[in-house]
Amino acid sequence: MNLPSQITLCEVGLRDGLQNEPTILETSAKIEIANELITAGLKVIELGSFMHPKAVPQMADTDELFLRFKNIEGVELRALVANRKGVERAIACGCRKIKLNVSASLGHNLANINMTPEESVAGFEENVNLAVEHGIEVSGSISMPFGSPWEGDIPVEDVRRIVEAYVNVGITEISLSDASGMAVPNQVYNLCMQMQEAFPQVTWWLHFHNTRGMAIANILAAMQAGITRFDASLGGLGGCPFVPGAAGNVSSEDLVHMFDEMGIATGIDIVSLMDLARKMQQLVGHETDSYLLKAGRSKDLIR
Ligand code: ZN
Repeated sequence: MNLPSQITLCEVGLRDGLQNEPTILETSAKIEIANELITAGLKVIELGSFMHPKAVPQMADTDELFLRFKNIEGVELRALVANRKGVERAIACGCRKIKLNVSASLGHNLANINMTPEESVAGFEENVNLAVEHGIEVSGSISMPFGSPWEGDIPVEDVRRIVEAYVNVGITEISLSDASGMAVPNQVYNLCMQMQEAFPQVTWWLHFHNTRGMAIANILAAMQAGITRFDASLGGLGGCPFVPGAAGNVSSEDLVHMFDEMGIATGIDIVSLMDLARKMQQLVGHETDSYLLKAGRSKDLIR
């Protein structure tokens, strides 16, 4: 198998996970989780989003979290941003990495904002410039490039045009996000190969939800295609408000366990991560989709 020796994980539980939970965590609980994630070895954490607090009340304290971690070195803390107001909030609280998002679904974009996805991305230019002027790094994400509930398959050509639009506004770090859980491994492999060939200047992230149990298979396929950066969430928390029945993100501990067993370095301590995932389940008040929390590590079976 063609496998990397090392991968980078971004923990998205504090954002993608918690934004779908009815329970709103105390800011102090989020700070504790973030601190423990850093201690466990996470080098990239999505701390929150700068959305309108009425629309996403779970993320209303994102500014406070960034103020708290303002001076931290060696860890990338990022936030999702939707508009200029979001960039202004990022500047004010010392956030140094933001992520913009667009849906790959033409039908979804036209119905919502009467723009194609490429037009949406081109419209980000002013926000990107404002962020960069203030020393903030900007990345972009593309939701549902592997399929959407609006039109089913998304043509590769459509994804290519969206990536091009991102590159045109100066963004060369892009995440492909299977929010609808429709991706399958051969498709993931092919799209990753095609995109890397067409855009060698881009740094890629992959983001899979485990809606149909295919997240880990898709990650393996992406790794075979040379991708080494993946999002995951503690306990497999998460969902998607626009996708019926959407399950959470692939669970961080399941993923790190697989990498450990395969001899692929993550720099993350699996035992600490499992403790944290358990703590997250307690905080949200219910069980989540995590194999490892149910079965334990393979290693623990060996006497
Ligand atoms: Zn997601």
